[in-house]
Amino acid sequence: MNFLKVYQKCFLRMSCRGEHLLHNRFQHTGLHSKQEKAMESYRLETSSAKNMMDIGTRQIYSEEHDIFRKTVRRFFEEEVMPHHKEWEKAGQVSREVWEKAGEFGLLGVYTPEEHGGLGGDLLSAAVVWEEQMYSNCSGPGFSLHSDIVMPYISHYGSDAQIEKFIPPMAAGKCIGAIAMTEPGAGSDLQGVRTYAKKDGSDWILNGNKVFITNGWMSDLVIVVAVTNREARTAAHGISLFLVENGMQGFQKGRKLEKIGLKAQDTAELFFEDVRLPADALLGEANRGFYYLMNELPQERLLIAVMALASCEFMFEETRNYVMQRKAFGKTISHLQTVQHKLAELKTDICVGRAFIDSCLQLHTLKRLDSCTASMAKYWASELQGKVATQCLQLHGGWGYMWEYPIAKAFVDSRVQPIYGGTNEIMKELIARTIVGQK
Ligand SMILES: Cc1cc2nc3c(=O)[nH]c(=O)nc-3n(C[C@H](O)[C@H](O)[C@H](O)COP(=O)(O)OP(=O)(O)OC[C@H]3O[C@@H](n4cnc5c(N)ncnc54)[C@H](O)[C@@H]3O)c2cc1C
Repeated sequence: MNFLKVYQKCFLRMSCRGEHLLHNRFQHTGLHSKQEKAMESYRLETSSAKNMMDIGTRQIYSEEHDIFRKTVRRFFEEEVMPHHKEWEKAGQVSREVWEKAGEFGLLGVYTPEEHGGLGGDLLSAAVVWEEQMYSNCSGPGFSLHSDIVMPYISHYGSDAQIEKFIPPMAAGKCIGAIAMTEPGAGSDLQGVRTYAKKDGSDWILNGNKVFITNGWMSDLVIVVAVTNREARTAAHGISLFLVENGMQGFQKGRKLEKIGLKAQDTAELFFEDVRLPADALLGEANRGFYYLMNELPQERLLIAVMALASCEFMFEETRNYVMQRKAFGKTISHLQTVQHKLAELKTDICVGRAFIDSCLQLHTLKRLDSCTASMAKYWASELQGKVATQCLQLHGGWGYMWEYPIAKAFVDSRVQPIYGGTNEIMKELIARTIVGQK
């Protein structure tokens, strides 16, 4: 292990200690000493910070997180931002950036150390999600790899699967993807057709998947497949499989041309009589739907956190712009309508920030339920769309030009209400807990 990673691990461990402190704070509310109170009030919340992306703000974070954030920010500034335009043209990032992210200790931050991850806390992982949005570089699919795919292996994998996949994934040498969606089944996951048939101790996999993030570059794909067509309900007959690049019959289709996320490789995947050994099954057969339901709240929280961070980025980008752009002899920031628009946006973002930070705290305590995660995903992604539209408007015609960061942030924002479960599905999930409790 290189020096940088050891250094990183040391901070992440300190961050974990921060998590325990946070836990204690919750348990002993009302029993704070004056000194503790003074320490807590030291960190500014976003609403009072000079810049919404300032390091050293927000009560949920600690100084250790700040140190980690500086490293992550530097990584995106030096290793991602200079190459992003070129990757947008290529429709994918380089393998090199994955390995560099591994060297910097930015992959598998929240995966336990004993499994080969970095052993950091959730908030350290959230630092990586936020910093990616602050860099406005959506290309590298790090968050999906680290905090959507790796947890499945860590939570449901056998010792052998964990040992085989987690260390190279944390090193950025094995890129992960998860394939649920099919051309005929997106929101309705129970409608998947991809089928794995038992053949002795092996499985034979047939089917195809679409819109798979990291799909083109993937070395390992978690594939959702039907394994029991006679099950009581479709949900009782679904399993997860670990499918590796290069397996006979596994083909990657084209990189899909998207309106945004230009540097992200979203692909179609085809499986034709792929023979999978017994140890390619993740967890137990026919328990796949249950595993998916367990893991989806973290995916939704991740989308919400990234949405809020993007709002903060767009706001600061726009504040800078209006303070420089001149019209009628003055900068447009002198216009009251512009000022009021910024006031509205800032208020919306800060209100959102409070809810999303509270969701992060809940998830740190393993208390984030599916309904709350759905609310966060739905609300934060809608806010992101609104902020994107209004910030672009404040840029006038230049906002429509690709060379301006707001244009990229605008198109990238559009997918957020769609993936990770559409916002209409989020409302279904929220509504069920409202009327279902009667
Ligand atoms: C860029 C990108 C990356 C993605 N990455 C991945 C990935 O890595 N892995 C993966 O598996 N998938 C991925 N997806 C797929 C994504 O999760 C699906 O597109 C999404 O779940 C919606 O499914 P669908 O496209 O089939 O839409 P549909 O399910 O056909 O929905 C169409 C419309 O009908 C509405 N609708 C459907 N059912 C209901 C209902 N019951 N009530 C109300 N409205 C409803 C939807 O909200 C939507 O507005 C990605 C998609 C995109 C665009």
